[in-house]
Parts: sequence; C-alpha cells; structure tokens
Amino acid sequence: MLLQENIPLAPLTTIKIGGPAKYFVDASSIADVQEAVSFSRSRDLPLFVLGGGSNLVVADAGWPGLALKIAIPGIDQASSPDEDAKVHFDVGAGESWDKFVSRAVVARCAGVECLSGIPGSVGGTPVQNVGAYGQEVSDTIAAVQVLDLKDGQIRELCREACEFSYRTSIFNSTQHGRFIILRVTYTLTPGGKPHIAYADLKRQFAGRDTPPDLSETREAIRYIRALKGMLIVPGDPDGQSAGSFFKNPVLSGEQHEDLKVRAAARRLTVPSYPALETHQKISAAWLVEHSGFAKGYGSDRVGISTRHALAIVNRGGATAADVVTLKEQIQQRVQEIWGIRLEPEPVMVGF
Ligand SMILES: Cc1cc2nc3c(=O)[nH]c(=O)nc-3n(C[C@H](O)[C@H](O)[C@H](O)COP(=O)(O)OP(=O)(O)OC[C@H]3O[C@@H](n4cnc5c(N)ncnc54)[C@H](O)[C@@H]3O)c2cc1C
Repeated sequence: MLLQENIPLAPLTTIKIGGPAKYFVDASSIADVQEAVSFSRSRDLPLFVLGGGSNLVVADAGWPGLALKIAIPGIDQASSPDEDAKVHFDVGAGESWDKFVSRAVVARCAGVECLSGIPGSVGGTPVQNVGAYGQEVSDTIAAVQVLDLKDGQIRELCREACEFSYRTSIFNSTQHGRFIILRVTYTLTPGGKPHIAYADLKRQFAGRDTPPDLSETREAIRYIRALKGMLIVPGDPDGQSAGSFFKNPVLSGEQHEDLKVRAAARRLTVPSYPALETHQKISAAWLVEHSGFAKGYGSDRVGISTRHALAIVNRGGATAADVVTLKEQIQQRVQEIWGIRLEPEPVMVGF
C-alpha cells in the first residue's frame, strides 16, 4: 500500500473542485483496502471512500483524514450454471462503469445498455442505484461484495439486502459509511433486446424498419447524453459538473395536489410520472427552470449548464463555496415558489 500525503482531490473529481486529502491511498487490491482501513483506525482518522469522483463536491478545505480511492480491477464473465441462461459479470469496484457497459454490449448481453456514458466507477453504482433512460443497476445487480467496517469481515450482500430504491440503497442511507464495496456481480441477458422505453430514445429510432441492437442503443444514448452535456467530453464548456445536482422529488398525492394548484395559478402544468404506486415523481429540472434559473444562468465561475437545467457547472476557477451558494439559492427559490425542498444528489465531502 502506498500512503501519500496532502494529495489534491479536485483533479480526481468531475467538477474539479475541492482541497487536498491529508492522506491518500489508491487501493488496487482487497489487501490494500484492509491496510488503509487499519491505518486510518490506528491514527483515528476520518475515512472517505472515493470512486470516480463523479457524484461529489469536495469542500475547499479538503478532507482532514484518509481518502481511500478504490481501484480494484477486473471484469470476469461467466455463464450461469442455472437454467436461466443468464451471464454473470463479476466486476472490480475500481473498473470504469462505462468500460464495463461497453464490454457487456460487445458481448451482446442486455441489461445495462441504457446506462451507457455515465461516468464513475463500478463500485459507485450500487451506492445511489444509478439509473437513466429506464434502467437502474438494481435491475441487474445480483450481489455486492463488501468489506464490513463494523467487524472487518468480507461479505456478499444479495440484491434484496441492498434495499435499492430511486437513487438510494443501504449504502447511502441506513448503513451509510459501514461498507466498502469491493466487487459487484451483474446478471445480464445474452442475446437480449435493448430497453427502448424513454421518449428521447424512441425518437432516435423513429421510422426504422428494424429494431435497434444493443450497440446502436448504446451509441444513441451516448449521443443524446452528449447533446445534453451529460457525457464527459474533454473541452466541453458544460463538462465540469457532478451530473444532475438535484434528485427528482417523489411526492405523495396530497403534496402533488398542492403543487398542481400552485402551477395552475401560474397557468402551468407540472410534468409528473407515477412512482411507488401511490406517488408522483416530478421533474426537478422543470422546477429549477420555473424558479428563475434558466439554462446558462450564473457567473463566469459557476452556473447552470447551458444544456441541462439540473447540472451545476464549474466554468473555471469555481470554489466549493460558490457551488454551495448557488445550490442554496436554487433550493430556497424552489421552496418559496413550489413548496418543495430539492434534495441534492451529489455527496458533499468535508463540509
Ligand atoms: C456528466 C455526469 C452524468 C451523470 N449521469 C448520471 C445518470 O444518468 N444517472 C445517475 O444515477 N448518476 C449519474 N451521474 C452521477 C454519477 O456518475 C454516479 O452516481 C456514479 O455512479 C458515481 O460513481 P463514482 O465512482 O464516481 O462515485 P464517487 O463520486 O467517487 O462517490 C459517490 C459516493 O459513493 C461512495 N462510493 C464510491 N465508491 C464506493 C465504494 N467502492 N464503496 C463504498 N462507497 C463508495 C462515495 O463514498 C460517495 O459517497 C452523472 C455524473 C456526471 C458527472
């Protein structure tokens, strides 16, 4: 294990903001992870587990303890011994998520093609149950191998034990901070058809005689994401972000009625979708845009993406304090106008 000191974290994040970690370890094996955990405990240092840095904002003061980057590699593919004829991919937490999706698509295995182009690591995907264009990783995760910091044991958690829901799991809620994810097993369908459910995606293939294959679907998703500035492309002025900054609110029937009344008073209709049987999911982007924060809003340091109302972008030289100020302005305005408290999606580190 190579222990480093005073390592800048900003370059290890997609929004490129934040101060240094007092200690830093890049762990490419389980032994490294265990050694790093022992070190942090022996010094009584706070531990932060870093993946691809695509869903976080690090404070300007940095992280006062050990930042442990999980870099465990490996993509192993095996046919299921069961009759379900599925293919299991056992993937190291440090692998790039999009590299894994590409491997799955090339192997003609369906189940993650709509999650093409999402940055970050494989180990980051179970944490907030990553999802896009009608797929979530919880659809295909069979098991998650973890180091349990409670007792130092390595465990295999089945899908049910992870308690996945919209942008949540035990890893970012009830058991936050307890587990370090080491490997994830995905169960994919060989020869399966791509999942074409979202309007954006259907439009891409409108008028075709033959249905798209997995590879065409992957390319279409990456194309749509690039149009929205949601694909990391070097040099893209909207590219330095943490993705969507707010979760889509899920409202009870009563809350939804209140929102509809507020919208009607402004002669507006709120886009909403059924969720959790009795609830409605609201577009956070719509709420932001209808609260005075149009695409492109902001200063020359920090603002809203010119192509996606939910992405807060570091336009160059932004600090974490700038981001927090804008986040709070947006939350306050949305609350005042729509009576809804927007919940941030990225993890705030060291605040
Ligand atoms: C341009 C862009 C587009 C995006 N689009 C989407 C999208 O469509 N859908 C979506 O769901 N998300 C999206 N995201 C958010 C982000 O890419 C995902 O949440 C991603 O899975 C985060 O993984 P990461 O490895 O970068 O995690 P990090 O940002 O490094 O960490 C995020 C959290 O996960 C924890 N964590 C990371 N790895 C581990 C591990 N091995 N063990 C335990 N905890 C860990 C961290 O401690 C932290 O709390 C987008 C982000 C960007 C920048």
